[in-house]
Amino acid sequence: MQFEVTILGSNGAIPAYNRHPTAQVLTYNGNSFLIDCGEGTQLQMNRYNIKRGRLDNIFISHLHGDHYFGLMGLISSLNLNYRTHPLNIFGPEGLDEIINAHLKWGKTELRYKINFHQLSADIPVQVYEDEFLTVETIILQHRLPTTGFLFREKKGQLNIIREKIQEYRIEVKDIVKIKDGGDFILPDGKIIPNKELTHKPKPPRSYAYCSDTVYTETFLPQIASIDLLYHEGTFAHEHTARAAETMHSTAKQAAIIASKANVKQLLIGHFSARYEDLNILLSEAKTEFLNTSLAIEGETFQVGLP
Ligand SMILES: [Zn+2]
Ligand SMILES: [Zn+2]
Repeated sequence: MQFEVTILGSNGAIPAYNRHPTAQVLTYNGNSFLIDCGEGTQLQMNRYNIKRGRLDNIFISHLHGDHYFGLMGLISSLNLNYRTHPLNIFGPEGLDEIINAHLKWGKTELRYKINFHQLSADIPVQVYEDEFLTVETIILQHRLPTTGFLFREKKGQLNIIREKIQEYRIEVKDIVKIKDGGDFILPDGKIIPNKELTHKPKPPRSYAYCSDTVYTETFLPQIASIDLLYHEGTFAHEHTARAAETMHSTAKQAAIIASKANVKQLLIGHFSARYEDLNILLSEAKTEFLNTSLAIEGETFQVGLP
């Protein structure tokens, strides 16, 4: 099943060197989840062929403009595209007021409903669930209430071995039970144990988005051993004091988090406009965690093995 993240915006506060403010789209089985929506996000979606119509859920981490100034443009375009089905927006207190003020003063009545889900930055909670995925908040430490997001694939079902269906003439109603872990009983009463009939499902995959935050280990247990971690790495090591002062992280600190949490892969982003060449951030991160990549716009990263 498709589970991947496409980077739409990779920069921190100020757009620079053709890099845009933060936005990513996570795609699972053809459905898109937008994570943050910096200025220019809908143009980036056009550029990288992300369909607006596939978008039902938007997650906003906090109310610094580089994470949501693209939202009104996107909401407006969805309306002009004759969207009628509801849009879920998950975000901090005040975001609904901001959206409503735009609509009110622009005398705009949307054709679709916005379901606003207010997030608290106090304790991590599950805020979304569908057939395949859950999303939990991650509590980050920043200058405003800020949450990251942890996308977890649900545990898959057991896979029934095709040949066994024919061998034991298993009917559809029994296949459902076997996939749930049940044994199969032959007409003569003999029990065929489940493990003879099934393969184990693949381990569930997970993606964590952590931006913006000062260096903190408070959420380490929550992201332990996940497949892919995005953690902001705004600054190079020489600006560690500046990172602490502005409640951001260095690339090296992002990599220390990745290493301590024993994640499989790290993506760093939210780059400061002071760096034209990002290799300093990448090489400093790699001294702590080798499997690190830069969140380059337009690139798509797989979450775990397909
Ligand atoms: Zn930011
Ligand atoms: Zn911020």
